[in-house]
Amino acid sequence: MVIAAGSLGTTEILFRSRDRFRTLPGISRALGGAWSSNGDFLTPAFYPGRRLSPSVGPTITGAIEFLDGMDGSARYFVEDGGFPDMIGNLIRARAKRGRFSLSGRMLTRIAKAFDNGNSFETMMPWFGQAMDAGDGRLYYGRDWLRPWKRRLKLDWDARRSEYGVGGLIAAHERLSAATGGAARVPPTWTILRNLVTPHPLGGCAMAASPAAGVVDHRGEVFGYPGLFVADGSIFPRPIGLNPSKTIAALAERSVEMMLDATKTATATTQPQQRTI
Ligand SMILES: Cc1cc2nc3c(=O)[nH]c(=O)nc-3n(C[C@H](O)[C@H](O)[C@H](O)COP(=O)(O)OP(=O)(O)OC[C@H]3O[C@@H](n4cnc5c(N)ncnc54)[C@H](O)[C@@H]3O)c2cc1C
Repeated sequence: MVIAAGSLGTTEILFRSRDRFRTLPGISRALGGAWSSNGDFLTPAFYPGRRLSPSVGPTITGAIEFLDGMDGSARYFVEDGGFPDMIGNLIRARAKRGRFSLSGRMLTRIAKAFDNGNSFETMMPWFGQAMDAGDGRLYYGRDWLRPWKRRLKLDWDARRSEYGVGGLIAAHERLSAATGGAARVPPTWTILRNLVTPHPLGGCAMAASPAAGVVDHRGEVFGYPGLFVADGSIFPRPIGLNPSKTIAALAERSVEMMLDATKTATATTQPQQRTI
């Protein structure tokens, strides 16, 4: 059986199986540990007078790798960014649908204004990932609004990841200045030290023993032969890169090893054919 519900989904399923339904009571106590935001950060940079059209074309077209720490500080991977024109697209679609009604005509005017004076046209978001502390802990805690319920929660102090994430942000600022722009680091970081991530990793970390992690190098859950995890939850630390190919590579490796094990088991149980 393979569970592949992602860093948060798989970790929650295993927590429920271990602590709520007690169907898998022997899952490692390391469950929930080694969680990482993969050091993700987005810094908008403004280039007055330059039309950059960040909503046109692919999201990431180039990257510079500093994962070996070659800039003398943090390890990170910095990328140019883009974003889908969600609000504009929504207004245009609504305007088209209701073009004969009063509200539709109003939306058409807004859509035109949006297309002419869209201030996002002069903005480019810098993206990137950094080696954060990778020390988050997911746990199965009480829901404060419904205390009779428990749900997945995160204990993670982003300040411990300041070194890695700060290095990436400094690169965003240097690159913006070097290309004639001005980076605006969001107050969610400068004031609140809050991070958002599209790359959650960990929770069911891969390790050499159940004392240190939840699954072995093939993704098989310690103590439960035949139960595998194949997603970003098995990462024992951040990778500082967009992770989907690494997740897929680990899953493919795991499947190959499962198939090899099945072939070996079949070969040893089948009677040998003899040609006389
Ligand atoms: C906006 C955005 C942009 C991204 N861009 C990139 C990129 O350019 N490059 C890159 O490498 N990565 C990118 N990522 C990250 C990448 O998508 C994830 O790292 C990757 O998909 C994680 O793979 P996964 O298999 O761990 O989990 P997921 O892909 O999240 O798969 C988990 C699946 O399990 C399902 N699930 C969850 N809980 C349950 C449940 N209880 N029961 C049944 N099903 C369940 C979910 O619906 C989901 O389909 C991006 C992510 C986002 C959000």
